[in-house]
Amino acid sequence: MNNEQEYRLEFFKERGFIRKQCPRCKTWFWTLNPDQTYCNDAPCVEYTFFKESKAPPFTVTEARRVFIEFFAKRGHKPVEPRPVVARWRDDLYLTIASIVDFQPFVTAGIIPPPANPLVVSQPCIRLEDIDNVGKTAGRHLTSFEMAAHHAFNYPDKYIYWKDETVRYAFEFFTTELKIPPEKITYKESWWEGGGNAGPSFEVTVDGLELATLVFMKYKVEDGSYTEIPLKIVDTGYGVERIAWYSQRTPTAFHAIYRELLDKVMKMLGVESPRENILYTIGQYASRVDPENLESLEEFYKGVSQATGTPIEDVKEILDKLERAFAITDHTRTLALMLADGIVPSNSGEGYLARLVIRRALRSLIILNPDTSLADIIKLQIDYWRNDFPKLKENSEYIIYVTQLEEKRFRELLRRGETIVSRLISKYKGKTAIPLNDLIVIYDSHGIPPDIVKEKAERMGVKVEIPINFYSLVASRHSRAPLKKEEYKIPENITKEIKDLPTTKMLFHEDPYIKEFEAKVLKVINGEYLILDKTAFYPEGGGQLADEGYVEVNGNRIRVVDVQKIGDVIIHKLEKTHFTIKEGLKVKGVIDWERRYRLMKHHTATHVILGAARKVLGHHVWQAGAEKTVEKGRLDITHYESLSEDEIERIEREANKIVFQGLDVKTGFMRRDIAEEKYGLILYQGGVPPGPHIRVVEIPGWDVEACFGTHLKNTREIGLIKIINVERIQDGVVRLEYVAGEAALEYLQKLMRELNNIAKKIGASIITLPSRVESLLEELSEYKKRMSMFKRAYMKLLVNNLILSREKVDNINVIVSILDNLDYKDLSDVVKSINDKLKEDNVIILFSKIPNRIIYVAAVSKSLADKGLTAITIHNNLVKHIKGRGGGKKDYIQGVTRAEPNIDEIKAIISDTIKHK
Ligand SMILES: [Zn+2]
Ligand SMILES: [Zn+2]
Repeated sequence: MNNEQEYRLEFFKERGFIRKQCPRCKTWFWTLNPDQTYCNDAPCVEYTFFKESKAPPFTVTEARRVFIEFFAKRGHKPVEPRPVVARWRDDLYLTIASIVDFQPFVTAGIIPPPANPLVVSQPCIRLEDIDNVGKTAGRHLTSFEMAAHHAFNYPDKYIYWKDETVRYAFEFFTTELKIPPEKITYKESWWEGGGNAGPSFEVTVDGLELATLVFMKYKVEDGSYTEIPLKIVDTGYGVERIAWYSQRTPTAFHAIYRELLDKVMKMLGVESPRENILYTIGQYASRVDPENLESLEEFYKGVSQATGTPIEDVKEILDKLERAFAITDHTRTLALMLADGIVPSNSGEGYLARLVIRRALRSLIILNPDTSLADIIKLQIDYWRNDFPKLKENSEYIIYVTQLEEKRFRELLRRGETIVSRLISKYKGKTAIPLNDLIVIYDSHGIPPDIVKEKAERMGVKVEIPINFYSLVASRHSRAPLKKEEYKIPENITKEIKDLPTTKMLFHEDPYIKEFEAKVLKVINGEYLILDKTAFYPEGGGQLADEGYVEVNGNRIRVVDVQKIGDVIIHKLEKTHFTIKEGLKVKGVIDWERRYRLMKHHTATHVILGAARKVLGHHVWQAGAEKTVEKGRLDITHYESLSEDEIERIEREANKIVFQGLDVKTGFMRRDIAEEKYGLILYQGGVPPGPHIRVVEIPGWDVEACFGTHLKNTREIGLIKIINVERIQDGVVRLEYVAGEAALEYLQKLMRELNNIAKKIGASIITLPSRVESLLEELSEYKKRMSMFKRAYMKLLVNNLILSREKVDNINVIVSILDNLDYKDLSDVVKSINDKLKEDNVIILFSKIPNRIIYVAAVSKSLADKGLTAITIHNNLVKHIKGRGGGKKDYIQGVTRAEPNIDEIKAIISDTIKHK
């Protein structure tokens, strides 16, 4: 869809812009320069701004400031950027553009924007092009700041649209960056994303795209476009690109990182080429289209010819440079991700953080294995301390987690050899390992593809690693899986309630209501009851549904389940022969004891979460929760198992809040106001829909968007006891706890068990520890004596067995049935006999242990060498003894259930010896 009219603007006409088409990329563009042929963007043209730019040199910090001031002066309100982790979105992990800040609620017109028009510089992370970083002189980065001005045009409130936006870009570039007007090119383009679409312009100057101006005006559904009432100006200026353009450095990395880049290169042992060579590299890099391998070859050839360096040397130099640039880029991205509390793991945003760490580490180990990634991260934290103060504030966490991940990765590489061998053994004899399998190997074991390739090719199996391997992997993980709403009520029932009004939720107005009266709105199949209001809590937010009964004309019918579909609450009733008529009044009574326990476990869950954050840090985020009558369960993000001390501290902090008796505040708030007041921490348990959210606050301790029923005061919890803590997966720790009566019941049960144990060993609970201590001492004394006796016994046994030997053709044959010896004992006995009796021996020993009989069949080495092996003997015996066994030439071990017959065994052996 590209309608020329979308791009014809008053501004272009007024200034005399002409419309042309680029013969290389076929894009239409607008320019003031009648002689311009190409679209002015790489790779259609080379970078010429190194020579051409007259801009005052701006650092990243200055570029950001100049942009914000420019738009602030022109009526835009500066707003704070959001985290790089998109906590307010449940469909997306990372903030990939400034517009993400306002999706979905502002862009859908559900809540107003924080200001209109506004200006923001939003740090963004995009991993879809991660493999290009370093190849294109800095056109591709994994993290960048998108400076943006946004205007939201409502049907009754117009701000501004295309003309003004294009004018702003023109004014900004000509005044602030001193770019001559005839160099500014507006490329016509079309933008689509997140179900919206609209025309856009890419603003390019001297080979570099500096800004994108998007006009969101369509909704895309099944390939058709309908205009939306809210039309949004969505712009994105590259802060790093502006800094690069204005500083005229050979690559963007030089402009962004300046002295930091030198330090990193030195640490990695990568020597920087001379400046004129760097410029040659920068210039040729503008022609690189990383998707196109030929263009990469052209790039190497170009640099080789221009600098008079052999192409193989150029490739080596560029490979090192590329890796150093990528490490510099990735470590900033990582610092930003960790500062926003991501915990590296195998899923969600944690997976993406680990991907960045591992890609950086792989290159770091190749360049200089003695460098530590954490040391480079430290430089980043210091370098960006004023731009992103949160890096400094969270530096301890960032550095610790980087070190931990580094240690884990290096360990993986050490173990990698064996893991890879095991993984790829199944490809033996095949010609290649398919890409999908390569990705699965990375996904499930974290093993980089180049290591698989090295090993596989030694085995003769080909491995093709696509140049965009990590990009492919990242794009598979960049979006959260769509959460399908699954109702426990059959679809034919939910269909029937569509037109019913919202159920009045008495449990929110007063969570302590135990009984209520309500009017019957609908009964479906005599089993599903809908009332005009209810105190029955429907299952949700990890809290189980209420139970109880409704009373109709003096008859009680049990309520077995309660579910919420949209805004309507459905009570599932026990099957009865009573008929409930619509319009009737019913009395509802909830099982209060059950509900009160659920409330205690729910409020306790919020208290525990606050305590975990206080003790472990702000990276702790709820990963799941469940509140039942018996206990509460909370899964939190954390990078390692909890120590006993940490568990005790969490428990102490939680109970402090219980004993302090804090009032729990609940109420509905407009989403943007709640976010402004409490921050994104609200969305611990997920992002609820709609303009209003229910906020549950324990003042000074915890605040969450939560639908559940809560106690009025934390004192009602009584006591919280943590009963189990385990690391359920990489990056996630599960806490289970009991509160109120459940805590008392748990402690009583614990005491009963302890009492039982104490009684069994003749102690009381008080004397239990010292009694256990002395029992353990006794036990070790017995063990010592046991082994002494055993040694004596074994010696005796060996002597007796030697005495029992029978000669067949000058070979000693020993067969015996023993008791309670294990394989190790039997092998010791065999060894002792062979040592003492330096002759040709055949030894068959059985040992009866509970439920079965184990055996060994051995020959002395001398005999095995002569060709009579344990294998031969075992083969002849195995049928008779009904055994199963295996081993080496001189030693077989096995197991049987049949009672052995010594005489027959001896006969078989002597037969074997005579026929050898
Ligand atoms: Zn072009
Ligand atoms: Zn909750």
